[in-house]
Order: sequence, then structure tokens, then C-alpha cells
Amino acid sequence: MNAIEAARWYFNQAADLMGLSANMRKLLLTPEREVKVQIGMEMDNGDIGTFIGYRVQHDSARGPMKGGLRYHPEVDADEVVTLAQLMTWKTAVVNIPYGGAKGGIAVDPKSLSRGELEKITRGFIDAIHDMIGPDKDIPAPDMGTNAQVMAWALNQYEKFHGFSPACITGKPLELHGSEGREEATGRGVVIVTEAVLKKLNRPLAGCSVALQGYGNVGSFAAKFLDEAGAKVVGITDVAGGVWNPAGIDVEALSRWTEKHKGLAGFAGADPLTNDQLLRSDVDILIPAALGGVLTEEVAKEVKARIIIEAANNPTKPAADELLHRREVVIVPDILANAGGVTVSYFEWVQNRQHFRWDLARVRKELDRVMVDSFDRVWQIAQEKHVSLRTAAYILGIGRVGRATVLGGI
Ligand code: NAD
Repeated sequence: MNAIEAARWYFNQAADLMGLSANMRKLLLTPEREVKVQIGMEMDNGDIGTFIGYRVQHDSARGPMKGGLRYHPEVDADEVVTLAQLMTWKTAVVNIPYGGAKGGIAVDPKSLSRGELEKITRGFIDAIHDMIGPDKDIPAPDMGTNAQVMAWALNQYEKFHGFSPACITGKPLELHGSEGREEATGRGVVIVTEAVLKKLNRPLAGCSVALQGYGNVGSFAAKFLDEAGAKVVGITDVAGGVWNPAGIDVEALSRWTEKHKGLAGFAGADPLTNDQLLRSDVDILIPAALGGVLTEEVAKEVKARIIIEAANNPTKPAADELLHRREVVIVPDILANAGGVTVSYFEWVQNRQHFRWDLARVRKELDRVMVDSFDRVWQIAQEKHVSLRTAAYILGIGRVGRATVLGGI
């Protein structure tokens, strides 16, 4: 089952329980617009580079569409459609007034110079500037992009449309970004981890955690887990990882990766592969890198009793069923990693009001949204005797479906 079939499978699981008609399912699943563009540019060495960019606007029933820009070699039309759809349910689960979108370029950003990265970003915005905007579709960072890329994207958009900081979120603080945006997804992951443990009558302090991915999401999740007293014992990135059953010194690791641009060689731990990490003997497993990493084969050997999906789409449906049967509690991506889009919403609100919130206010509002959303999903799961994933889909699809019908089809 590929990613798009998997997303449909999860959708249908909830839609069956909701008694949604075939016509309504088709309407809700079909993206409003899918765009594929060519970005041609001169590379630093004088070669001509041709790249493909995508923007998919999935649903606007609840507001302007919102979703990240991913730069990764595996970006393709199916992946972007899948991720755009997940954004629609995600914004609905946390009840922020947005629809769902996603975009990206099939490129390895690490293979580009800084100048080429800027050029490709500006080229992409040239191709899609007419379809995005503060009231239409608001991009943000995702895998392979960051605040600097958002700064170039906004600057290029403003060349066509004038001052419009609310068009892009995840911007640098100096360019109308929000306090707390960079840490938001990782912080949200830890808030829902604490919330699920509270329901299971366990404190986070002392729990052992394994994290796949040490980028934006993984590094902030590790920091907040450490601060909350959890024992982060394993962390991996694309090149491998580190393991220390006594607990990794997260602050020292952060300093190491800053200097060495990767986990490899960190002295305070043993080497660890991604395969070993997913199967490691821990209380909590947090995939925070690529999609599709929890396959049926891996799921059979997962030892963690709790999985927090920080990455988008990390669990294949067959693995999800198996883990559910094994009573492993999974907090699904459309809830667990919604902290990023929630603070993106706060950034958009601040930009529209030309007013700045301080970090304490951002964190307070984020914590409230994440805890309220988690509690609502937990309650639906209890009432309907379904997994947290199905409950989150029931909540998200229900909100989008009602908005669609009320607005008039
Ligand atoms: P990032 O580019 O900052 O970091 C990605 C991390 O994953 C890096 O540590 C990288 O080495 C690692 N990685 C890449 N390929 C890997 C592989 N094959 N095996 C193991 N590790 C690998 O990306 P990010 O922003 O931290 O996003 C991580 C995940 O979280 C993605 O699935 C993304 O869609 C999701 N997400 C991100 C945000 C956000 O605000 N950044 C919000 C919601 C969801």
C-alpha cells in the first residue's frame, strides 16, 4: 500500500464508522487543485538544473489552506497529495480556521549551495505566487526547509504582491516570525506525550524514549523530553545514531551536532542504526523523520508500549492494525505533530494584527490547544471504542464535513 492508499485507508476506517456516503467521501478526498511546475535555473558550475515543484490545495471548507514546503529527493505528486490531505484533517483536529495544503520540490537541499537554494526557492515562488496568499494558501517549513527558506519565499512573493507577511509562516523573528514557532512541533509532541501518560496514570519523568530524526522536530522534542525528566536513550538521523541506556546528555548532543552537523562520533553514547532504534526496548518510541518507517515487519518487533507520531505518515496501515491488536497506544500524526501548524496560525494572527506575542503567551496558547485537542480525541476513542487515530480522523473529518455541508455544496 503506497502513502496515498494508506491515507485513504485511514480516512475510510473513520468514514465507515461515521456512515459517510460514497459521494461525500469522494468530495472530501479529492484535492481542490494540484499544480506541478518546472523550475529551471543555472547551477553554480554553469550547468542547467531542471527541478519539479508541487503545490496541492486539498480543502478550503474551513478557511485558507495551510501546509509546509518539503525539499527532499523523494517528493512526488502522490506524496504531496497525501500530506495535503493530512493537513486538512490536522487543522480540523486542533480546530484552527484553516484548510489543508502541501508543497515541495524533488531535490536534496544538501546537494545545493546556499545560492542555489535561494534561487530554487525564488523560482518556485515565481511559479506558484498567484495561487498562494494570506487568505488563500499559506506555506510554512517542512523537511529540508527552514526559516531562511521562508524568508526568501516571502521576499519573492512580496515582489509581486507587496507587503504581506501573513502569506508565509515559520519566518525568522527579524522578518515577522513568531516567538516559539521553531520549537512548536517538538514542544507539541511532548505536550501530547505527557497528556497520554497522564491518562495511563504514568509520569513522563523516568520514562525511556527513542527518537528517530534529529532535525527541527526531533531536536526540540529531545530538549523538552529531557527538561521534563524523561530518559532519552536513543536518537538517530539519516546517517545512523547514538544509544545510551543510562540516558543521553541531550544538551551535550545538541552542542555536538551543531558543531559536527550530525550525530556520528558523539562520545557519550554507543552507535545505533535506525533499524535498531525502531525495535529498541524503550517505553516510548517517537518517529520524527520520514514517513512509512513502521512497516508490518518492524511492528512485530516494536517493544515500546507508546508511539508518538511526530513525523507525518510514519505508520503503514498493516503495522497500525498489528500494533493496535498488541495494545500499543499510538498518538497519530494529525494530532501529535499539530503544534507546528498551531503556532503558524498564531504567527499569521500576529502578522494580520501587526502585534507581537511574547514566548510565554505563545507557549500558553499552544499548550491549551494541544491538551484540549488531545482530551477531545481521547474522549471520542473511549466513547466509540476505537484507536486514537480513528478518533482523531472522526473529529477532523466531522468538522470538515459539517463546514462543507453548511457552506453549501
Ligand atoms: P528536518 O529536515 O529538520 O529533519 C529531518 C531529520 O530526519 C534529520 O535529522 C534527518 O537526518 C532525518 N532523516 C532523514 N532521512 C532519514 C532516514 N532515512 N532515516 C532516519 N532519519 C532520517 O525535518 P523536520 O522539520 O524535523 O520534520 C521531521 C518530520 O516531522 C517530517 O515527517 C515532517 O513532515 C514532520 N513535521 C514537521 C513539522 C515542522 O514544523 N517542521 C511539522 C509537522 C510535521
